[in-house]
Amino acid sequence: MRLYEYESKRILESAGVPLPKGRLVSTPQEASEAAREIGGPVVLKVQVLATGRGKAGGVRFADTPEEAERVAGQMLGMPFKGYTVERLLVEEKLPIAQELYVAATYEERTKGRLMMASESGGMDINEVAEKDPSRIKKVSVGSWIGMQPFQARELSFGLGLAGKVNSAAQAVFLKLWNAFDLFDATLAEINPLVVTEDGRVVAADAHILIEDDALYRQKERLGKLGIHERDDNARPPTPFEVEALKIDKADYRGVAGRVVEFPGNLGLIIGAGGGSLTLFDAVLRNGGKPANYCEVGGNPPVSKIYRLCKLILQKPGVKGLAVMTNVFSNSRVDFLARGVIKAMLELGIDPATYPLTFRSAGAFEEDAYAILRKYGVKYLGREVNFEEAARAAVRMVEGL
Ligand code: GDP
Ligand code: MN
Repeated sequence: MRLYEYESKRILESAGVPLPKGRLVSTPQEASEAAREIGGPVVLKVQVLATGRGKAGGVRFADTPEEAERVAGQMLGMPFKGYTVERLLVEEKLPIAQELYVAATYEERTKGRLMMASESGGMDINEVAEKDPSRIKKVSVGSWIGMQPFQARELSFGLGLAGKVNSAAQAVFLKLWNAFDLFDATLAEINPLVVTEDGRVVAADAHILIEDDALYRQKERLGKLGIHERDDNARPPTPFEVEALKIDKADYRGVAGRVVEFPGNLGLIIGAGGGSLTLFDAVLRNGGKPANYCEVGGNPPVSKIYRLCKLILQKPGVKGLAVMTNVFSNSRVDFLARGVIKAMLELGIDPATYPLTFRSAGAFEEDAYAILRKYGVKYLGREVNFEEAARAAVRMVEGL
């Protein structure tokens, strides 16, 4: 779950990371009150689930409460990166001497955790990372032992920090790590971590993602900070997606879910080891019009496949079905075949004549192929790659 800046900052606050004085507001009046409370120049920041606000006009400054009220009036209600601005964070404007970058996250390559930091934080960190990766310092943190003080020192000196600022930065790194760890975050980022002209080290921005699968055990901890579970999607789920979710939730075995509705004519049952995204892309690349996205894996039972397949086949506008997966090692291909055939037969669809593309392989594939042969389905095996399978599926449903 992606958190708003103000929510991320509540987590940092609970971990003891120094923050600018500030208040969340939703009217210009409140913005002016907040500025008066803060008692000096302020920064006003839109609270939407998007990054890069600074460059898009979502971060503005005001010197007086009157100006804060006026600026807030312009920002509240404005469309911003696909959202409507409903809330602003009004904070003391920090006198910036330096902008640092720091983040705790997971690294795909090592499948481990790490903390990275840079002396060139701020709005251009992505360019820095691309053009000169050596300016991002990294320390790996083991799975069993958290971040150690010597690692915080390594980072801090790696950034060329000295004296009081150096020790303050070390403290922030360790506290950020603790928050990352305690809250089951997949990313906890502070950019910029500001070094002020008077030598304070303060988190000016914060961006935290919580692992969805850990929300069940974070509910209480987050709830105490006023952070509640929500659906991150930009739009509410469609009835089709709600139905699909019910199917997946009804049985804990395996996954046949994460369904997203699209307006196309090609139903998709796709998955296995990242296969969903790759196959979905391959379908689009070949001019296909998906009716849905989904993920299957972890050995879903026949019943789940069958119910999902039935839902997709009945979706208005669906003219064909592509059942395509990576080579399964931990899921039974015959369950997949059985579920698909059962759904078709029940709907009075003849699997032999329906535009069905079946490309799957792995555990129990011979049983799967025997079932498909019995119903006259010309399946594709592992020798047909994703690109070719996707092309075949598109051709079939477009009647080419
Ligand atoms: P983002 O663009 O969505 O990441 O929003 P940030 O909160 O990181 O703000 C973007 C930029 O605005 C920062 O990199 C700073 O340069 C500037 N900024 C944000 N807060 C302050 C502040 O308190 N004082 C000053 N001087 N600049 C700020
Ligand atoms: Mn930022």
